[in-house]
Amino acid sequence: MTRKKPVILLLLLIIASCLGYIGLQSISPAIEVSSQTDTGNLPKPDITAGSQARNGTAGSPASGIPGSNRPNPSSARPEVSGDTGSSAEIRNIINTSESIYTYDEMISDIGDLEINFPDKLKVSSIGKSVTGRDIPVLILGNPEASKNILVHGSMHAREYMTTQLIMKQIEYYLRNYGKGSYEGIVFSDVFETVAVYYIPMVNPDGVSLSQQGTGWITDSALKSKVVSMNGGKQDFSEWKANINGVDLNLNFNARWQDTGGVQTAGPMNYKGPKPESEPESRAIADFTRKHDFDLTVSYHAKGSVIFWYFFQDRTHYRRDKLAAEKLAGLTGYSLVSPWKSRNSSGGYKDWFVQDFKKPGFTVEIGPPESTCPLDISYFPDIWEKNRMTTAMLAHYLITVAE
Ligand SMILES: [Zn+2]
Repeated sequence: MTRKKPVILLLLLIIASCLGYIGLQSISPAIEVSSQTDTGNLPKPDITAGSQARNGTAGSPASGIPGSNRPNPSSARPEVSGDTGSSAEIRNIINTSESIYTYDEMISDIGDLEINFPDKLKVSSIGKSVTGRDIPVLILGNPEASKNILVHGSMHAREYMTTQLIMKQIEYYLRNYGKGSYEGIVFSDVFETVAVYYIPMVNPDGVSLSQQGTGWITDSALKSKVVSMNGGKQDFSEWKANINGVDLNLNFNARWQDTGGVQTAGPMNYKGPKPESEPESRAIADFTRKHDFDLTVSYHAKGSVIFWYFFQDRTHYRRDKLAAEKLAGLTGYSLVSPWKSRNSSGGYKDWFVQDFKKPGFTVEIGPPESTCPLDISYFPDIWEKNRMTTAMLAHYLITVAE
């Protein structure tokens, strides 16, 4: 008898602790992603992930540590939006502490965003790059909304900080969906009325070339072709074009015949053999033709300026200039005058303004004295200036009657 008591007690203890463990597990918020989660095991969107997920120096393990990648205190770890009714926090998803943010990191992060915010975000692909990689599009808010905005980045390879900015902006709006607001309108109301289509990396092959050189290219003929286009150099960091050596932002049908630049394929300034000759420019042009966008933003780097003019008629000139002034007021960036824009041609924004008669902006992040690729030390300032741009433009579409 005396020997049985401790054994029974021990058994009871074990059962109680097991029950407690199960109970704890079952009340864990489903939304929480543990920092040990191997993002490689998460289900992917309908996008082919690269084979070298989170490779290179881009610090993916560090990004799993909560609070490790937020240089800007004003955006420090906002709680999950109130509509979840949970005080649990999701770890920061987008790493903004390293200059290199790869295609594979982006694909992995898109999977994380989709899992954590499934009812507020839809993910699809607009098409494939030259090497067959999907070009993802993320739709924030209500896809059935009566108004739509398109925001894209990294059309120019070395300007890949624009991808980090866009991804961070998506994460920020999702986290604060039910409680963040712009001028009194809660984000959820803003994005239920105006859907935002984000294409964070229009030119994935070019970005990989600029970030990693040719090591990731499996086709040896393509590899030697790009080295040749680069004048025999192995350093591709300043590459702007796609992997065919075509400058995508000169490849759209807007006064394309008048576009100058260089005559042969290379790192930059070659407009291509004809408008939309490239799979990336064709994909975004086709996507734009399929959707009735009310406004577009093309993120580029560098200069801290906004291009908005492309030979608008008088009515559209006034409307577009007013919206551009709002964007300039928010970001502190300067507007490029029509006179200085008079030789602009072949760009996405030029083509959008010309064909759809709606406002289109090219926003150049980074100070004029910086060099591309931008160093990550510029990110906190860029983030502060651009955190609210899309909410502001959506709010503008809601409040300004046409
Ligand atoms: Zn650019």
